[in-house]
Amino acid sequence: MNQDRITGTINKSECIHITQDEAKGINESLASFCLKNKIAFQKHFTGYHPWKRYPFYDGIWIYKRDASRFQQAYKTLEEQRRKEKDEESRRCKNRKRRESYTKNKIARIRDMPSDKRPLFAPVETESPFGIVEYPLGAYCPLCGSYFSPSGYLTYQTKWTKKLKWLANVITHSRHYHNRAYDDKWQTHGAPVSPDYDEEHRMAKHEANESAKMQLIHKATAYLVYHKIGLKEFRSLQETTEETLNEVKKRLK
Ligand SMILES: [Zn+2]
Repeated sequence: MNQDRITGTINKSECIHITQDEAKGINESLASFCLKNKIAFQKHFTGYHPWKRYPFYDGIWIYKRDASRFQQAYKTLEEQRRKEKDEESRRCKNRKRRESYTKNKIARIRDMPSDKRPLFAPVETESPFGIVEYPLGAYCPLCGSYFSPSGYLTYQTKWTKKLKWLANVITHSRHYHNRAYDDKWQTHGAPVSPDYDEEHRMAKHEANESAKMQLIHKATAYLVYHKIGLKEFRSLQETTEETLNEVKKRLK
């Protein structure tokens, strides 16, 4: 007996009727469920739609002798569902674990003394999806906050982490701490004078030197802790002798 359909008129003493409502766990149609599990069936057909002419089905008939096989297949399906659900919740747990790890990491860094914070650190940023790790945040010991570093300065492949940080902090300082520089040289698209370039280069140089001096004087402990010294300051563009002497004097 390998037939998959029950043909002819149903003998109700031999068969049982199952509706889609009764088999709630089966998302696919009962017919394809039976085909998959090799259970003979006949669709229970109650008539046609009056004008669209598609048939109305109300469940299926299967042989009574197949009932236990049907139940077995149904159980297997339920078990599979449960496994999928468990897998899903496990994944959810992992996500939660990851989130709490990031949260704790951020909290740990926040509680550190300011002269020992890492150069680049995760930053807590608010988003509709919760707290997001921003792994390239740079710490500024002058204002005690994190800022997003410049892409150009951060992806210099030959630079060390320390040098990247130093260059970024100087740029940040030029724009966020030195109001005189920022007010004068941020043109925001406005036309600039013909001698903008030369004048700007000089102003930038001055602002950079003043940022370096500020760092050396105000963030001495921080620079010493991270072992940032003569080597890094010398690698920067146009560092003057005066600044280097200050580095030699203070950052030993
Ligand atoms: Zn700052």
